[in-house]
Amino acid sequence: MHLDLLAIAAHPDDVELTCGGTLLKMAQLGHKTGILDLTAGEMGTRGTPKIRAKEAANAAKLLHVSWRETLSVPDSDVQPSRQHKLRLAAVIRQLRPKTVILPYWEARHPDHYHASTLGYEGCFLAGLKQLPITGEAYRPFKILYSVSYASVRPTFVVDISAQYAQRHRAILGFASQFRPKKGENTSKVHLAIDRLEDEMNQLARHYGQMIGVQYGEPFLQKELMKVEDVVKMEVRSI
Ligand SMILES: [Zn+2]
Repeated sequence: MHLDLLAIAAHPDDVELTCGGTLLKMAQLGHKTGILDLTAGEMGTRGTPKIRAKEAANAAKLLHVSWRETLSVPDSDVQPSRQHKLRLAAVIRQLRPKTVILPYWEARHPDHYHASTLGYEGCFLAGLKQLPITGEAYRPFKILYSVSYASVRPTFVVDISAQYAQRHRAILGFASQFRPKKGENTSKVHLAIDRLEDEMNQLARHYGQMIGVQYGEPFLQKELMKVEDVVKMEVRSI
């Protein structure tokens, strides 16, 4: 299967939380989308790998994602090692995504910033003809960094107002990780569901407001944006 857009992240649910609305919107526009979870999230204190796999598959369905798999890198030990880079490069050659979304390269959780490096270098290596892996050499055209939780100014924001409710459903689908078990103290849960809901709502509103819409998801690209017609540019200045 060949994809138009592939989102790569460290843990199942990372993609839903940072760019789930954009994935859904792109699928609705007719693009083929996919998610590659680097780990199965097995270090999470909640839910079994089996439950998580089921939750991830359900979320993918809600976001109209055509392809979702895990690279089976050990959770809490995501490293841009040669071995992982080659395996990621093989996936890139198989899927040939035009655009790849990666986590931003600075983060609190080491898995997140290592996922960024591993993702970028895997995409780069996939284009080297002499690489000792199968498949035709291929490099994605565009790499976007998701900056929802990063304190940097995004290059652009995608309007996800129409997709927000469905993204919300996809995130809540990861119930095993956010919902306290019966009788459990909610303050002990890493990010209890009510706090998470509140936080994701605030972030999406914040970025939406920056472009004059209700909800948005922010991205950064290293390249400059090319503009053809400055009279048709969106987002009001004054
Ligand atoms: Zn994560």
